[in-house]
Amino acid sequence: MTPQGAWDVLIVGGAIYGSAVAWFLASDPDFDGRILVVERDPTYEFAATSHTNSCIRQQFTSALNVQISQFGASYVKDFRAQMGLGDAVPHLTLQSFGYMYLADTPQFAAHLKAAQALQAGLGAGTRHMTPEEIAQAYPFYSLDDILAANHNIVDEGYFDGGTLFDWWKRGAKRLGVVFVTDEVVDLKRACNRITAAVLRDAGEIPCGWLVNAAGTRGRDVAAMAGLDLPVEPRKRYSFVFQAAEPLDRDLPLTIDPSGVHVRTEGRHYLAGCPPDDDRAVAVDDFEFDHTLWQDKVWPAIAHRIPAFERVKVLNQWVGHYDYNTFDQNVLLGPHPEVDNFVLCNGFSGHGLQQSPALGRGVAERIVHGAYRSLDLSPLSYQRVFDAAPVVEQAVI
Ligand SMILES: Cc1cc2nc3c(=O)[nH]c(=O)nc-3n(C[C@H](O)[C@H](O)[C@H](O)COP(=O)(O)OP(=O)(O)OC[C@H]3O[C@@H](n4cnc5c(N)ncnc54)[C@H](O)[C@@H]3O)c2cc1C
Repeated sequence: MTPQGAWDVLIVGGAIYGSAVAWFLASDPDFDGRILVVERDPTYEFAATSHTNSCIRQQFTSALNVQISQFGASYVKDFRAQMGLGDAVPHLTLQSFGYMYLADTPQFAAHLKAAQALQAGLGAGTRHMTPEEIAQAYPFYSLDDILAANHNIVDEGYFDGGTLFDWWKRGAKRLGVVFVTDEVVDLKRACNRITAAVLRDAGEIPCGWLVNAAGTRGRDVAAMAGLDLPVEPRKRYSFVFQAAEPLDRDLPLTIDPSGVHVRTEGRHYLAGCPPDDDRAVAVDDFEFDHTLWQDKVWPAIAHRIPAFERVKVLNQWVGHYDYNTFDQNVLLGPHPEVDNFVLCNGFSGHGLQQSPALGRGVAERIVHGAYRSLDLSPLSYQRVFDAAPVVEQAVI
């Protein structure tokens, strides 16, 4: 289908963010505009949304991120009612095994204690634990080098982000949103406004708002408007493995001091890590480093959980974070220099769980001119101009 005429909102990228914004806009009773979602690859083969680990946590160091995920958890648990599309919408569960941050230095233990106080003050169930308390709850860990941990089993763990994505896309289409397969290759800008997007096949398409939900290509899309984003693609590896001696209870998403994380994945386990040389890569570089498992991941998890001496990798992949080098937090909302150019960029690995709150927020900002439910204005690009980062220290 070739899109015709002008569109009130044109969204670049149709993965979780393009679909979330489309859904929340289309389902807002105060919005009756035309929405076009342009997606270059409808298989989503290389999208972060297809490579995600799909977990949610309250354990952030920025209060706003805690609140964003609190809404995410409540939305997931109330998904069918939230969608309002009847019984065909499935119930989603949140498998609350929790995240377990392990500290092996007094400095990090003190940091965890402060983070626990912040999170508990916002209503999160985070507990600061001694090694004895950890061993009592999870006897399978080797804790000789561990001084403390933070753990939270309330609204923290795995959820089915794929179903969320699928239903937002379906729901948006039902409400008249048009998804086309094409690529935005240029933007037309007049002073402080985007006037049109240029699509590879369909040509120039006028639009009222332009939403940048292009993931790791978001920086390229911003460059089309003459803007720079401090966002770059960085590789993140995931390994699903089977254990010869499975654990007798769920394994929390354990963030080991080595930088490797590992958790329960159904009957199996999922481990992940950044490469040692964690730098920007090309948007299409998905080459896999086959030494990582043997040299880094397996030694780390077998040290922490001796039962993982005998394991077999079943599946592995590499995906890209859209990593915000400024403060590891999303850049959200209208760009201060281009009023109708809306950013959804730089999620730095925690974007999936934020999609309910941020998709809703972006829709509110477009329809009502302000955030209504949760004030997301601290996440504006303005903070880059002001050199005032909203630093998130709990980045995995
Ligand atoms: C390994 C890994 C694990 C993760 N684990 C978690 C987790 O546990 N919890 C969590 O909250 N988050 C996690 N994340 C992060 C989360 O998955 C991302 O933040 C989220 O999926 C980003 O979605 P997006 O829609 O912004 O981008 P993407 O999913 O990358 O989608 C962008 C889309 O835009 C399209 N596009 C790009 N340029 C153009 C163009 N010019 N024209 C048209 N279309 C275009 C692309 O084809 C793509 O489909 C993880 C990410 C990775 C890689």
